[in-house]
Formats: sequence, C-alpha cells, structure tokens
Amino acid sequence: MKSISILGATGSVGLNTIDLVRHNPKKFNVVALTANTNVEELSRLSIEFDAEIAVIADESKFPALKDALSHTTIQCGAGEAGLIEAAERESDLVMAAIVGAAGLRPTLAAVRRGATIALANKECLVCAGDLFMTEAQKNGARLLPVDSEHNAIFQVFAFDQAKSVEKIILTASGGPFWNRRDECLRSVTPSEAIAHPNWEMGQKISVDSATMMNKGLEIIEAYHLFPVSPQQIEVVVHPQSVVHSMVQYTDGSVLAQMGSPDMRTPIAFALSWPERMKAPVERLSLPDVGQLTFSKPDFETFPCLQLAMEALEQGGAAPAILNAANEIAVEAFLNELIAFTDISSVVKATLDKIDMKAPQSLSMVFALDLEARNTAKSILDKFRR
Ligand code: NAD
Ligand code: MG
Repeated sequence: MKSISILGATGSVGLNTIDLVRHNPKKFNVVALTANTNVEELSRLSIEFDAEIAVIADESKFPALKDALSHTTIQCGAGEAGLIEAAERESDLVMAAIVGAAGLRPTLAAVRRGATIALANKECLVCAGDLFMTEAQKNGARLLPVDSEHNAIFQVFAFDQAKSVEKIILTASGGPFWNRRDECLRSVTPSEAIAHPNWEMGQKISVDSATMMNKGLEIIEAYHLFPVSPQQIEVVVHPQSVVHSMVQYTDGSVLAQMGSPDMRTPIAFALSWPERMKAPVERLSLPDVGQLTFSKPDFETFPCLQLAMEALEQGGAAPAILNAANEIAVEAFLNELIAFTDISSVVKATLDKIDMKAPQSLSMVFALDLEARNTAKSILDKFRR
C-alpha cells in the first residue's frame, strides 16, 4: 500500500490520478485531498476514499466543507496554511497538481519534508527553478515528472551517462491553431482556444498549448529537471501526440517514449515508480494512427515560445516574470478582456518593464511574482477590448 496526497484533486490531472487510485484500491490509500473552490467534489472524493484531511483553498468555503464532512471523521482545512498542512502530512507520494504559481508554496512544503513528489505543476519550476531544485536536493526530495514530455524523457534519459546525451527533443502538438497564421488568430475565442485536439486538460494549460507558451514553460521545466543546457533543448511539432519526447545521444541514437495521448500513462508511471502498474488507457496502435509527422515550430505565429526561450537564456528574474504575466494574460483572455494575440504582447511588455535582478531567496520569488502580476494587470488596460 502506498499512501498518497493529491494537491489539486479536483482538476484534470487530479481526477486522472483519482481514476487510477479508484482502479487500484489495494495499492493506494489517500491521506490528503485539496481543491480551490469546489467543496462538493472535494467532499465527495474525500468520503469515497476516506481521506484523513480535506483542504479547500478558498477560505470562504470552509464552513461549507465542514458542514459537508460533519458526519465523518475527516479533518478539514482551508487557505494556504491548510494546503501546506496537507503537503506536510506524512505520505509516500504527493501529487502536485495545483495549477499556476499558486502551487509553489504547497509543493515546497512537500519538498521540505523530503517527500517523493509526482510533479505536474510546471509553473513551480518556471518561477523558482534553481531555488526549488536546491531545496529538493538539500532535503532529499525526489521529483517524478508527470508532464507527459518530461515523463517521457525521464523514461529514456541515461542519468548514469548524462555526458552521452546530445540533446533532448520536446514534442509539441502545436495546439488547436498550429497550422494557422497570425492574422486569423486575433479573433479566436476562449472556447476555440481550449478545445485541444489531443488532450483534455484544465483551461489554463489548454490556452498555454494554443499560444505554445506551454512548450516554452516546458523548455524551462526540462532545463531544471535534466542535466542539460538551454542549447541542448529542442522543440519539434508533432500533431499526433504519440511520440511524447525524445533523447538524442552522441552516437546518433534517438530514444523516444510513445503512447496514446492519455495523462493516465505518465501519472501511472509516477504513482507506481520504480515499478509499473496497469493503467486503463487505450493501447497505442501504430497502424491505426497511420502517420506520424514532425515539423519545425513557427516562432512568428507563436511568439510566446520565443519569449520563454529568451527568458531561460536570460535567467535571473525573467522566467518568474514570464510566468506571472502569462497567468494574468491568460485569465484576461479567458474573461474576454483581451484578444488571444495580446497574451504574448502583455507578457513581453511586462518583461520589458520590470527590473531583472535575480531573486536570491524564495521570499524574493514571491515578491517578484506579485510585482509581475501587478505590472501585468496595469499593462492589460492598454489592450482591453
Ligand atoms: P486544472 O485547472 O484542471 O486543475 C487545477 C487544480 O488546482 C484544481 O484541483 C483546482 O481546484 C486547484 N487550484 C486552482 N487554483 C488554485 C489555487 N489558487 N490554490 C489552490 N488550488 C488551486 O489544471 P490541470 O490541467 O489539472 O493542471 C494542473 C497542473 O498540471 C498545471 O500546472 C499544468 O500545467 C500541469 N499539467 C497538466 C496536464 C493536463 O493534462 N491537464 C498535463 C501536463 C501538466
Ligand atoms: Mg506537457
């Protein structure tokens, strides 16, 4: 039996994790479950899995949560302190599946107790990469990548022969607009942007996939997770999402990990690591897929990808600013306040406006994140429709 806590249990990754736990009742027992606002789903899941503690991030929902669980022995928590408490609880594995920089403090709490962490929340590594990894190393926390590309690389990366790795190749589906040109993108709606052709995901990452910021964030994520330089990370567009990523070695070998586009495969890998478990996913049939195609990314139509690559090269404060501005811009786009193509403009303008001094501590990262959010919000006004 493995004990597991799921931060962000009601989201897309969270529910895929729950689905695997449900399929394997003898393998897992649930310690903590958290959600942002959805009390109904959180309490339902906590009762189904007899969790020790359920935490709702939105403090105004705490009375509703207590009420929903009053006939049980499940403890209740709320707010950031509650999320941290959930992450600190002893468990064999923590699934870090909160979206955005909001996941940083709770994930850090798990890191600081030296937990084994199935890491879905890529924004943690984008906004605090070096400091986060140092903290993980110092406390003996183990990070198991859940993001499908990073999970693929983790599976084929020869960590004991890192010098023989020439580059890692991240595949990108290209999102719903990969073959469109800039002029057509200005008027796309939130519902068009979140309709990803291959993956069903939360709204924020779906918009990131449509702008290709997601791939940019993933380049930064890969840089922190694997011993490679920014120049050793390449992106290829692969619309079928069958090859989840590749590692190229000095002898010319390229190793790829493949599978149907279903997050339950990389999640299952992380949940059962170092073993493998059965996952109820559709098996890959290459004859049915027929063709696998690859092309170079279009940096002109998708400027977010370039902005993220530059932020990684620049280092220091740039990735954290990029991430914060992107979160604000994506939210504004989802609320129909700015156009799709303004997302990259808001991010760029925010990067141009803030002093690039590198944060030396995690508290400086939080201050920088806040400053970048406020700057991005003030910049939004220029783009408002
Ligand atoms: P989602 O929006 O579907 O779910 C997010 C979860 O976090 C929910 O449980 C929500 O209640 C919680 N949450 C949201 N805001 C919060 C806050 N301020 N405080 C506390 N909890 C909060 O997101 P998702 O698509 O599941 O993505 C989660 C993370 O995993 C993201 O970082 C994303 O980039 C990454 N990821 C997701 C996928 C995918 O298939 N969805 C794939 C790869 C990586
Ligand atoms: Mg991914």
